[in-house]
Amino acid sequence: MSPLALLLDYDGTLVPIEATPEIAAPDDELLRLLDHVAHRRGTVVHVISGRPRDVLERWLGALPIALWAEHGFWYRPMGAVEWTPASEIPQGWQDTVKAILRPFTAATPGSLIEEKSASLTWHYRLADSEFGARQARELRMRLEAALGHQPLEIREGKKVIEVGLRGVHKGLAIQWIVRSAEPPRALIALGDDATDEDMFAALPAHAVGIHVGHGPSRARHWLMNPAAVREWLMLL
Ligand SMILES: [Mg+2]
Repeated sequence: MSPLALLLDYDGTLVPIEATPEIAAPDDELLRLLDHVAHRRGTVVHVISGRPRDVLERWLGALPIALWAEHGFWYRPMGAVEWTPASEIPQGWQDTVKAILRPFTAATPGSLIEEKSASLTWHYRLADSEFGARQARELRMRLEAALGHQPLEIREGKKVIEVGLRGVHKGLAIQWIVRSAEPPRALIALGDDATDEDMFAALPAHAVGIHVGHGPSRARHWLMNPAAVREWLMLL
């Protein structure tokens, strides 16, 4: 049994939010710090991020820590090389959804499909705005009619319609850790934005949530910024 599990969000928690995501790569100080904390006796470090697997692997893959990508959808346990999906992947839903999206993409110049493991997104930002909006309404109705019985969620955003697996969020990681064969005796989770609130919401009563930055949060503790997070990690 590990006495302490430490769950750390990446962007905005361990590094400042950058204008473009690519320049948020970890600096040497951060890599040394995470390595140091990971070697602390009885401590397991988890980094949990919305970023895809390849980015986390490139940046943090050499450290003795666990990694969670796509908001907890993918899990790479400490010391493992393989990623496993933290929730079950229903079979065939991508094909069903793509079969619906494709004719809309063909009929709507400027629109495109973005594929991730746990979601398919139809973007129409570059389409004619009136026609695009009409197509989006039609598409949404078509999706709702076709997918009602599937474990999927249809979400509408700014010039996007996204179909994703229902219930994929950072709370999954907490549930996974708490229900594992060797649950930690103490659990501390740190994060800075809305997606981290799912993590705080899933924390068991004895766990500690730390919100990074100002603003309302479910977490009962806070640290000012990534620099403060690093100082706190150093003091552990
Ligand atoms: Mg963040």
